[in-house]
Amino acid sequence: PSLKREGFTTLPDTTWADVGALSDIQQQLKDAIVYPILHPEKYAKVGITTPSGVLLCGPPGCGKTLLAKATANEAQANFITIRGPQLLNKYVGESERAVREVFTRARSSAPCVVFFDEFDSLATKRNDEAGSNARVVNALLAELDGADDRNGVFVVATTNRVDMIDEALLRPGRFEKILRVGLPQKEDRVTILKTLLRRIDITFDDAIKKIAEDCEGFSGADLAGLVRQAGFFAVARDDGITLEDLVKAQKTIQPSVGDDY
Ligand code: ATP
Repeated sequence: PSLKREGFTTLPDTTWADVGALSDIQQQLKDAIVYPILHPEKYAKVGITTPSGVLLCGPPGCGKTLLAKATANEAQANFITIRGPQLLNKYVGESERAVREVFTRARSSAPCVVFFDEFDSLATKRNDEAGSNARVVNALLAELDGADDRNGVFVVATTNRVDMIDEALLRPGRFEKILRVGLPQKEDRVTILKTLLRRIDITFDDAIKKIAEDCEGFSGADLAGLVRQAGFFAVARDDGITLEDLVKAQKTIQPSVGDDY
């Protein structure tokens, strides 16, 4: 399959202002990726190489993609999205070649952040050393270790099953850090709603805090769905979003993530 169809190289326009809550993770991504891309000479001067990337883990819709894009945006780096399952191919050797092609392309568009979504599908534990999945993991390891320095290529991988990832990929220098992006707690939901409503002229008061409180179990994507639904109500009246729209919308949305997280 042509890689061009699988992932485009873009310069994301998502910024940290689009990401609500998650400030610890934001800082970790700056340390692990943004500063090394912006100031490679500082790391070279003290003689250290930076790890290849970070692994973001957690349930769907909680901001992993947003975080990765804002990271690339701040670093003014190109961004390539690869969905793990897309690289898997039943023909012997094809998947490994696809992995190598991704990194070749990333190096030629460095500085570059490669975003591997659903990484567990590519990086499952190697049970059979000769099996196709072992060859894909070996190809990933070779690419992650390949250069003495990162050459401006960093990887953000996501999974909701860290236990499935081959441990060799988690060793120091590779995906050294596993950052958990969980469902937002109440205060985080307030911040996320504030972020989602930042361009909307609405008084952000206790009433909205109450909505956030009532959204137990909602992911960031569910909160975005709530705001979108409120927007539909507003459009139907040919008016702006009001508090009543948000309250009404809240009643129509169910948390999308099950109890297994
Ligand atoms: P998946 O595992 O399904 O790819 P994800 O964790 O990558 O999910 P995102 O794609 O980042 O989730 O989030 C989906 C949408 O939900 C975003 O486009 C945004 O509208 C909203 N969203 C999620 N988390 C946040 C957040 N922390 N702040 C603001 N918006 C958020």
